[in-house]
Amino acid sequence: MFESLSERLGGVFDRLTKAGALSEADVVSALREVRTALLEADVSLPVVRDFVKRVQDKATGSAVTKSVTPGQMVVKIVHDELIRVLAGEGEPDALKIDNPPATILMVGLQGSGKTTTTAKLAKRLKEKNGKRVLMASLDTNRPAAMEQLGILGTQIGVDTLPIVKGETAVQIARRAKTQAAMGGYDVLFLDTAGRLHIDEVLMDEVQAVRDLAAPRETLLVVDGLTGQDAVNVAREFDGKVGISGVVLTRMDGDGRGGAALSMRAITGKPIRFVGLGEKMDAIYSFDAERVAGRILGMGDIVALVQKAQETFEAEQAERMMKRFQKGLFNMNDLKMQLEQMMKMGGMQGLMGMLPGMGNMAKKAEEAGLNDQMLRRQVALINSMTKKERANPDLLQASRKRRIAAGAGLEVAELNKLLKQHRQMADVMKKMGKGGAMKQAIRQMM
Ligand code: GDP
Repeated sequence: MFESLSERLGGVFDRLTKAGALSEADVVSALREVRTALLEADVSLPVVRDFVKRVQDKATGSAVTKSVTPGQMVVKIVHDELIRVLAGEGEPDALKIDNPPATILMVGLQGSGKTTTTAKLAKRLKEKNGKRVLMASLDTNRPAAMEQLGILGTQIGVDTLPIVKGETAVQIARRAKTQAAMGGYDVLFLDTAGRLHIDEVLMDEVQAVRDLAAPRETLLVVDGLTGQDAVNVAREFDGKVGISGVVLTRMDGDGRGGAALSMRAITGKPIRFVGLGEKMDAIYSFDAERVAGRILGMGDIVALVQKAQETFEAEQAERMMKRFQKGLFNMNDLKMQLEQMMKMGGMQGLMGMLPGMGNMAKKAEEAGLNDQMLRRQVALINSMTKKERANPDLLQASRKRRIAAGAGLEVAELNKLLKQHRQMADVMKKMGKGGAMKQAIRQMM
């Protein structure tokens, strides 16, 4: 799985982490190679573009701690972005199989591995979760497919619905539901018919079965070897029947892995399982972190940077706390706060995290309180000399003009920043004196 992509990226980052100092040009050229590697792995273009841009933004904006090299930092950023693109927000849920019998509808093109996957999942639920499982094949066009499910069922010790000649898919689904309820089964798998291509007849049939069966999960099985085609198939199926997740098969092959990387971003649907072989045990829960680790193969560096970041953040917080308690709050402190805000996803991200604040994020945006503003403020502070940052009272007209020009902004903007700083410094001073700071921090925990 992902061998060639992993090899390509490995080469890029080996060079990058071995270099001591890194220029921006080094990062840009490494990212150009990352872009090529991803495209060659058949990751879709918009996903690649977004990926590279996010890495670049983070690489230029991130504070580098002394104990890691810039190259190592970039590896960590790429690693985190891989997880994000693979998993989207949060990990996919476990299969919804409460309220027995829970129906799981299996859909996909012919030859994608649908029948095999159905049996693999049935075996897994039986052995790992102790569930009583019934499987039914709805492939009325291909008697061989129905028989195949029966053979697999016998092999793994899972019941299949007896075959009755001449029934339609909907009739079989109805009989299967009744049988599952009467027989006290926990889970019912409906293995729908596949076609070579997506066509109306197939979709109509799947829709009719879905309406009757009211499945808890509709899993689309797609061949991971087909790259972007797999993603297109997923988009079509989702549009027509609505899917709750994807199973990528044949990830044991020398596929280029692009499907795994594009799926979530393009379809919005989580990859729930991957098939890694023909054997009945060759199925695994999709774990974005593990997959990202496999693709990069740089677990040591990722762990190292993580540790360094945690230590650095803890020390920084401690230092800040001490300064605030003494009533100190200069431009460096403000800069750190602004950067902290950007790191937490900016204004939007911060407010999005607070329950009921989704609307506030919009209002803040309208009021001009956006990430661009945060970045402009940091640029202004960067344009100050060390002395000026430590003592903003030094800032008279000519200095102000120089600083604003250095950041490519107006003096008015700098004045706004200075006002904001004074207000914050006042608050800090008051809190520092009365011991209110400790209380405020305790409240935040
Ligand atoms: P269906 O037409 O979608 O039901 O496809 P099948 O389940 O009959 O699978 C077609 C072929 O793909 C069979 O030979 C399976 O053994 C094989 N297959 C299914 N999943 C995997 C997988 O994850 N890896 C490999 N290597 N082969 C698989």
